[in-house]
Amino acid sequence: MIWKLKKWWRNYIFQHEPIAEAIWQKVLARLHFLQGLTQPEILQLRRWTTIFLHDKKINGAQGLIVTEEMRVMIAIQACMLILELDLDYYRNWLEIIVYPGEFILDYEYTDEMGIVHAVHMAASGESWLAGPVILSWEDVNNTNNKQGYNVVIHEFAHKLDMLNGTANGCPPLHRNMDPRAWAAAFTQAFEACCNQLDKGDELVIDPYAATSPAEFFAVMSEAFFVKPYAIQQYFPQVYQQLSAFYRQNPAMRWPTGVNL
Ligand SMILES: [Zn+2]
Repeated sequence: MIWKLKKWWRNYIFQHEPIAEAIWQKVLARLHFLQGLTQPEILQLRRWTTIFLHDKKINGAQGLIVTEEMRVMIAIQACMLILELDLDYYRNWLEIIVYPGEFILDYEYTDEMGIVHAVHMAASGESWLAGPVILSWEDVNNTNNKQGYNVVIHEFAHKLDMLNGTANGCPPLHRNMDPRAWAAAFTQAFEACCNQLDKGDELVIDPYAATSPAEFFAVMSEAFFVKPYAIQQYFPQVYQQLSAFYRQNPAMRWPTGVNL
């Protein structure tokens, strides 16, 4: 009954709060990683994006005016992660805060050993447990880059990771997935990346991935959607696990070899 009501309500929002066609087409065209989507997938993405925009508040900081196009640009990318999942994966938080550019993180936290750390650094994005997602608009706009960098996918991957507690690189897996296979694939790839960086080698993904298992999952998620062939070729087991989790196979969307 509750599910039926939710479905009815979502349909109602989709019908009554449509995204303007011109804005939708403009944003779709800007994001090259959406080019291979089928018509039914685009329709589903538009449904999630519309409901997402109804459910979440997207507010500008430091005087930034957030236009409808900017709202769609953020929401559409956030909804790519849950295209074959459900919007409920983004439950229990409400707000996205958008800064014009990088912003300063300034806080303290206590680690597992009881040691207090002071954080003071510039960031392009941040996700808070049960709190807002914070984004730099300058970085959201940086959509065509070689490394597959995508701050929206990165921060929303953290949100999925946080569904089962603090971000640790393992979101709640589906029943048909084996947590040991997930852990083995990610641990091996993480260690391989750390070793490559130690040797001074270049990575096919953003080297920020080597910061922690949580960052590794977020960076791998960015590349999985934006340059899937690279992940499929260099990290096939990680690709397989991400494909099972997101229930998508983005490498199938382009002719072989694109984005390597
Ligand atoms: Zn991160």
